[in-house]
Amino acid sequence: MGTLTTIALIILFITFMTFVTFFGRLPALRNTPISFLHRLIWIHLPSFFTTLDNRLTSGRFSSSFTRLFNYLMNDRHPTILIFFLLLLTIGEYLYLPTAWPQLSSPLTKTTAAISILLPYIFLYLSAFTDPGYITPQNHTSEMARYPYDFTLFHPGISCHTCFLLKPARSKHCSVCKRCIAKNDHHCIFINNCVGANNHHYFLLLLLSTAILTLYGGVLGIHLITKKMYLYFPQFNLLPWKANHGAGMTLTQWLVIWSWGLQDGVAMGAVTLLALLTSPLVWGLLGYHIWLVYCGTTTNESMKWSDWQYEMREGFAYKRRMAKNRQKDLGVEPGWTRWPAETEQIIVRTESGNPPAEDDKELAGVGPWENVWALKDVENLYDLGFWDNLVDVFVPWYMFRDPKKVSLNGGGLKNRKKRRARKIYLA
Ligand SMILES: [Zn+2]
Ligand SMILES: [Zn+2]
Repeated sequence: MGTLTTIALIILFITFMTFVTFFGRLPALRNTPISFLHRLIWIHLPSFFTTLDNRLTSGRFSSSFTRLFNYLMNDRHPTILIFFLLLLTIGEYLYLPTAWPQLSSPLTKTTAAISILLPYIFLYLSAFTDPGYITPQNHTSEMARYPYDFTLFHPGISCHTCFLLKPARSKHCSVCKRCIAKNDHHCIFINNCVGANNHHYFLLLLLSTAILTLYGGVLGIHLITKKMYLYFPQFNLLPWKANHGAGMTLTQWLVIWSWGLQDGVAMGAVTLLALLTSPLVWGLLGYHIWLVYCGTTTNESMKWSDWQYEMREGFAYKRRMAKNRQKDLGVEPGWTRWPAETEQIIVRTESGNPPAEDDKELAGVGPWENVWALKDVENLYDLGFWDNLVDVFVPWYMFRDPKKVSLNGGGLKNRKKRRARKIYLA
């Protein structure tokens, strides 16, 4: 029992640390214990060890550690991708010899085989699909992908590295060393950016991995406990029920478990790993579906979070965009496949006072209005959950003549206003 408990604790610890690393930086979790732990692990502890190392070895240890860490985090290499592949493959190698012969019906065997296969397929597709690199050749069409919203993305800004105008919703990735269309984030698990062209594969990778871990975990528990229920009819999966129903003590309950696991300790360990990692994968999937629902990306949600702070401090102002606005076609696309144009512009001022109404440098017309919260502003890139999903899965569907676009009426007039507040339930 001792080894099993140790393995369980190690797996639990790794899962929890991964959770903190993934979710700790999310703006939605600011000022929560998760973000506090994230700061402790990634800022305070490293700085403590650096100080200690400076005293003891005059910084030799931390400088080589920093080099290794920078290599792992900031260079493009498949280390984490291989780790993910190994975890998946070794897990299945340990699990299947015990589990597969016990699967009786062809239907179970088929669903199991499909669940095993799909994460590999979507991992391959997410990792090796061009996420939407912006090149001089495709720059014109990439500029027409989305309009500028004059809030998160402004026309006329060039990338310092690629020397190309940055299309709306794009971001330069320092790891991939290119500008990526609708850049969500750089994912070290797929060793690639998640962008306009592989966002759907990434969501499907999360979904198929979430299903695999849940399926493997539940099936594993079912196979392990089948024999235990057979020999000990008073056994129950929940220790307190076994205690109340059959007077079974916790020790007896644990002894039955260790007896049940004798035939397949390896399968038992993988079952445990699957059950513990499953909530993490479902959580990540849920978070990314939430972003699609809000019509935003990981990158943009951070920009919205910054705006939220500016607004609370009273430094943010908005005004309307003129209906018959003349676009500067040198920096803005003449039309976009996205069926809506912006009607608001938002600026921040250093002084906290509104900008001058006749400021020619700033777009828009009329008086400036103070905005205090995300509920006062609109998110141009949110067309509603269904259309956002269409944009992720079949982006070319919206790449049509703007006059024929039927989505949400094809323009501002009929378009429902989608408030940016959705993002933080602010
Ligand atoms: Zn760039
Ligand atoms: Zn990248």
